[in-house]
Amino acid sequence: MSIKDNLEKIQSSFVNPDCQLVSVSKTKPLELLMEAYEAGVRDFGENKVQELQWKQPEMPSDVRWHMIGHLQRNKVKYIAPYVALIHGVDSERLLKEINKQGAKVERKIPVLLQMHIAEEESKFGFDRDEVLSLLKSDEFSELQNIEVKGLMGMATNTTDQDQIRKEFKGLKSLFDEIKALGNPKLSSFDELSMGMSGDYTIAQEEGSTMVRIGSAIFGPRNYPTKE
Ligand SMILES: *Cc1c(COP(=O)(O)O)cnc(C)c1O
Repeated sequence: MSIKDNLEKIQSSFVNPDCQLVSVSKTKPLELLMEAYEAGVRDFGENKVQELQWKQPEMPSDVRWHMIGHLQRNKVKYIAPYVALIHGVDSERLLKEINKQGAKVERKIPVLLQMHIAEEESKFGFDRDEVLSLLKSDEFSELQNIEVKGLMGMATNTTDQDQIRKEFKGLKSLFDEIKALGNPKLSSFDELSMGMSGDYTIAQEEGSTMVRIGSAIFGPRNYPTKE
């Protein structure tokens, strides 16, 4: 199966055909990214700043780069000029740093707030109360150089489909609750980034607008990763 075949197979299996596909190319060489590009992919997801930094100048300029991994504050400045969407914003301090770097490059940087929905301790993210108090705070309303486009979450890594569905359902319900706040700062709060190779169908059934798919497109990952 070629990358093009994989993409067609995935797209045709979408229960929501309008769901945005982000092709997760972390650890993959440029030849494979180009193969995906030639098959029509423009949205690429990477989880390491260092890897984004060397791939971005090598790929065509109409690629939209998604930072999907954990982002350290001291690295925001490197990607601020070009990043299309930062999926993993998991603290107020990180959000403020993105705002600061956005101001420097005169951009309003699109971000998603990452919610902790999985059972594992290790996954990053806000919990419900934290995110609601952040979004209602005066400090948040003063951040001029970020645009909060929605939420992102990763389900528990389990074969228990009911568990995964329950976590996605919870995230969708929080998303709806935030949208209903009617906060003018959240006028483009429309994206729910949930679902990966193993669980994107459940995610779409539960309201995902954006799925991040890697191994089902590019094959199993090549380790070790950089950084
Ligand atoms: C690697 C990664 C993905 C893609 O995972 P696959 O199972 O290969 O589809 C999605 N989201 C995040 C945050 C990732 O780090």
